[in-house]
Amino acid sequence: MAAITLKKRNHNPILCESSDILGGQFLLAGETPRKAEMKKAVISMAEKARRLGVDIRMNTKVTPELIIELHPHTVINATGAKPVVLPVPGNNSSFIVHSHDVLRGTVNVTGNVVIIGGGMSGMGTAEYLAKKGVKVTVLEEGADFCADMGSIRKICTKESIHAAGVKPITGVKVTEIKEHTVIGQKEDNVVTFPCDYVVMTGVAKRDGTALKKACYEQHIGYYEIGDAGMARQAINATREAFDIALSFDRPGEHEYASKPKKVVFATGVTGTMGQETMKQLLSRNNRFLVRVLARPSEKNIALMQKYTCPSLEVIWGDMADYDTVKRGVDGADYVLHIGAMVSPAADQYPECQPLY
Ligand SMILES: Cc1cc2nc3c(=O)[nH]c(=O)nc-3n(C[C@H](O)[C@H](O)[C@H](O)COP(=O)(O)OP(=O)(O)OC[C@H]3O[C@@H](n4cnc5c(N)ncnc54)[C@H](O)[C@@H]3O)c2cc1C
Repeated sequence: MAAITLKKRNHNPILCESSDILGGQFLLAGETPRKAEMKKAVISMAEKARRLGVDIRMNTKVTPELIIELHPHTVINATGAKPVVLPVPGNNSSFIVHSHDVLRGTVNVTGNVVIIGGGMSGMGTAEYLAKKGVKVTVLEEGADFCADMGSIRKICTKESIHAAGVKPITGVKVTEIKEHTVIGQKEDNVVTFPCDYVVMTGVAKRDGTALKKACYEQHIGYYEIGDAGMARQAINATREAFDIALSFDRPGEHEYASKPKKVVFATGVTGTMGQETMKQLLSRNNRFLVRVLARPSEKNIALMQKYTCPSLEVIWGDMADYDTVKRGVDGADYVLHIGAMVSPAADQYPECQPLY
């Protein structure tokens, strides 16, 4: 998306892809039921980029050395997310695989399979395997599976999962994997799931620190978009790619993009003043990384969820705790101490107990 938009705007983008195929996780998503259009769309975009004459370099991993050699005006890091395994004892056993490899077709799993993670990717993989005759159990730590889907899609997926014979179990925190058994905790009980294979589904953004450092040292603009900023969804990747391709050459923009962002630590962001301050700072995400301190109450967790983005770091804790505040202040360029008990609440609660 970024390369196509840039080319259409008469720039000369160089599109580097470390593998031998363009499309990233869109190709994997497209292997799962009802998402074939994700694969089709990304293949068609790759074709469009070729037709427009974008300089596409396959099997080319972007490294700090390559950035220094090419010395571009701007680097748009769209390296996406990488597969990760759950940090529990036994996670390196030979019968543990990742859903990316299952969907890519580089590993074959059969028999009884336990999938860890009941989100979009885990449920898609579950249905993909069930359709191949595999007996699938999905373990989800949260209270619901398909939690990262919209309501209509959730209903559809739940119906299909049920029809495919997949067994989803929620509220299971996996604690260990050994001897072809996944061990977990469900409420106060230890639960075990014997299996032939375990499929992990976690992903995490690729670390862009070295690329970013090389850019700043060379006064090259640097952006992280899509899953490279934070593992999320396709809409975030395409939207951010489009926005950056339209805005990176605005007057003054390069000055911000080619140097480290200022870190602003703010307290009180769940209140009216603090929330507005946070919104204003997040809207200037080319200049600021916003670190905030919030109490982990149910209300605050729900509130902060809607602000989740790569420019926001939330420290959950209490403002009265020295170590928590220190975590926020360390490395910050600015501190905005907005959190306070204001009148009349302060008068009613002189001992300053948190209200919510
Ligand atoms: C099974 C599955 C189902 C999904 N379902 C949905 C869904 O229904 N809806 C939705 O919105 N999202 C879904 N997603 C998520 C969506 O696919 C991702 O959010 C999206 O692909 C992110 O796009 P991206 O371009 O940021 O990164 P990616 O798609 O990960 O692409 C990154 C590319 O960068 C390449 N690369 C990595 N490092 C380098 C380097 N150093 N140099 C050069 N190239 C590099 C990689 O090879 C890859 O081709 C799903 C994902 C999976 C895995």
